[in-house]
Amino acid sequence: MSLPPNRVRVVLLTQAIGPLDYRLPDGMKAGPGCVVIVPLGPRKLPGVIWDGDIFGDAPVDAKKLRNVLELVECPPIGKGLRRLVDWVADYYLTQHAAVLRMVLASSAAFSTSGTITEYRRTGLEPARLTPQRAAALDALEGAQGLVRELAAEAGVSDNIIRGLIKAGAFEPVTISVDTPFLEPIPDFAIPELNEAQQAAADVMTSAVRNSGFETFVLDGVTGSGKTETYFEAVAEALRQEKQILVLLPEIALTQPFLKRFEERFGVEPATWHSNMRSTQRRRVWRAISDGSAKVLVGARSALFLPFANPGLIIVDEAHETSFKQEDGVRYHARDVAVMRGRFEGFPVVLASATPALESRHMVAIGRYKGLEIPSRFGAAKMPEIKAIDLTLDAPERQHWIAPTLLKALEERLERGEQSLLFLNRRGFAPLTLCRTCGHRFQCPNCTSWMVEHRLVRRLACHHCGHVMPPPEECPECGEADSLVACGPGVERISDEVNRLLPDARTIIATSDTLWSPEKAAEFVARVESKAVDIIIGTQLVTKGYHFPELTLVGVIDADLGLEGGDLRAAERTFQQIAQAAGRAGRGEKPGEVYIQTRNPNHPVIAALVAGDRDAFYDAETEQRKSAGAPPFGRFAAIIISSEDEREAIEAARAIGGAAPQADGMYVYGPAPAPLAMLRGRYRQRLLVHAQRSVEMQAIIREWLGGLQFPRGVRVGVDVDPYSF
Ligand code: ADP
Ligand code: ZN
Repeated sequence: MSLPPNRVRVVLLTQAIGPLDYRLPDGMKAGPGCVVIVPLGPRKLPGVIWDGDIFGDAPVDAKKLRNVLELVECPPIGKGLRRLVDWVADYYLTQHAAVLRMVLASSAAFSTSGTITEYRRTGLEPARLTPQRAAALDALEGAQGLVRELAAEAGVSDNIIRGLIKAGAFEPVTISVDTPFLEPIPDFAIPELNEAQQAAADVMTSAVRNSGFETFVLDGVTGSGKTETYFEAVAEALRQEKQILVLLPEIALTQPFLKRFEERFGVEPATWHSNMRSTQRRRVWRAISDGSAKVLVGARSALFLPFANPGLIIVDEAHETSFKQEDGVRYHARDVAVMRGRFEGFPVVLASATPALESRHMVAIGRYKGLEIPSRFGAAKMPEIKAIDLTLDAPERQHWIAPTLLKALEERLERGEQSLLFLNRRGFAPLTLCRTCGHRFQCPNCTSWMVEHRLVRRLACHHCGHVMPPPEECPECGEADSLVACGPGVERISDEVNRLLPDARTIIATSDTLWSPEKAAEFVARVESKAVDIIIGTQLVTKGYHFPELTLVGVIDADLGLEGGDLRAAERTFQQIAQAAGRAGRGEKPGEVYIQTRNPNHPVIAALVAGDRDAFYDAETEQRKSAGAPPFGRFAAIIISSEDEREAIEAARAIGGAAPQADGMYVYGPAPAPLAMLRGRYRQRLLVHAQRSVEMQAIIREWLGGLQFPRGVRVGVDVDPYSF
């Protein structure tokens, strides 16, 4: 494609319509990657000037062209990142606009430099508060932000906040979005690496020095010091004056990471996550795009930021499922990170103690390079892992801790050591049932049970967030006193511990309790100061944390994740339990792990007990191979949804009926999707299974592109769906 001079093609950020051509007014110098404001009808919309011939020719009569209105003052999106955006749109069957919105981080790019005024809570308590104002003040203890943000946080109107500001409850704070980030110092505190660490570090640092694309799988057992090791690559990139991105799977891990980073490099890095305040968001966006922030630690969305001079991406805990984005643009951050390294020419490190099967496969076929750290750092040994057969060593009725595990907990208490009980279920009980009529409490919007959260006294849907007060009687038969909680969540395990071991100091660690970096930091401080004996937690606490006094891990229900036959059930269970076990015995005292199960002979459990990782991976690889499952074959899920069930079914049938025939590709369905109803929408699914040689996306694009649907129907494609 070549455009006449002074004509540019612009991808609009706010529209689902394709790119449009505009004229550059005299004197405006702008090329590909520049962020601009353009007219569309009566509106003014942001967009990015685009290049490449993927859009084909769309000749517009020169006389009809409208002028670009404004060139936004920010560095243009670089060529490498533009090609990455093309790739993501193409591979994940989404639109450029959706991907570019992540690059520009909504409005962060459109800020002017200078200062912004936020408001911070003062100590002042205005007299005679209206109930609304009083409630807002309660909700905003310690808060700071723009009026609009404070109002949203407290769930009140902007005017309530303005009133409170007038009354003196908040004071203005001026923040400069140009305040630079301090530069990390590569040689601030260089640790002495052991031999295996040094060998891995050397390979990575020389790749950084040669600044070429390569993907490393840094595969070190839990406690082997992967962080110390990849920090050497970070240091080298800093010496080369490059920027570094470290992706973490959970916000809850940020705070301890920042502390370690500061110990090594002298200052804290910049951070990026989804609940940042807009002022901070702007400041980081500017500093990343002008190259002044050298290191960014963030959640997966940081991956799309326009780094001026990127030289290294680390994906820590790279096997984690939270790197897969499940709504909006459905992408896998691990895979996009690798592609970014490829388009912009720098190394990417995937660090994990339990690498994804896909990553191991890439090492096996020579596409990625494996770096191993086979033992724990220093004197620490790998923990001893034992299975508890729940059919022989059964807990009491309505209890979930087997006698053997209870005894081990008692021993730790006597010795003043800490324990972790792992159960991947938030709340008190996953299901509430009426003993008289059998009624079960289900979410009105989703195909899922309402989970009892006793601490906050309500039932909640974990899919849509719907909540209801705890029922006093059965809505079906009216019987009071007949409702029973079925099965355990972490709160119930905590109750059991408190009953059986009344002297133990317990803490529950889930996304309900560690929902912010500050809460997570508080949790870490309490455990480190030994104010806690037993942690009861979900997968959130099974990774990253390093608690040297923790010597016992109990897995309450190892069978939970193995039910249901989803593609990755075995792999995920193996990873979760191995990670949980990895928290035990990281200091000088040896660790012990008990896995409670009804199937001690299940290959996953057997491999964990034998400490034979390869046995598990090899068997799982064979199974995937014979099923043509990833990484040997590929899937895509087409999800059709509507508030009207008939409409969803009809649209799904129409899509199924139009399914193309292609060698090496098979289409299953339509059938109700695994969550047949979600947030009030009925969902149907078609599953595409293809050999690797098939151009699956091109086929799907053509197939769906030719169909029309009623307005209420949404069709989304999930390429490489994570679990199904
Ligand atoms: P992993 O991430 O591989 O599970 P960590 O990076 O958390 O392991 O390391 C485990 C512990 O060992 C941490 O406390 C870390 O500071 C320490 N450690 C690892 N390598 C070194 C080293 N070379 N020198 C000093 N301490 C180290
Ligand atoms: Zn729901």
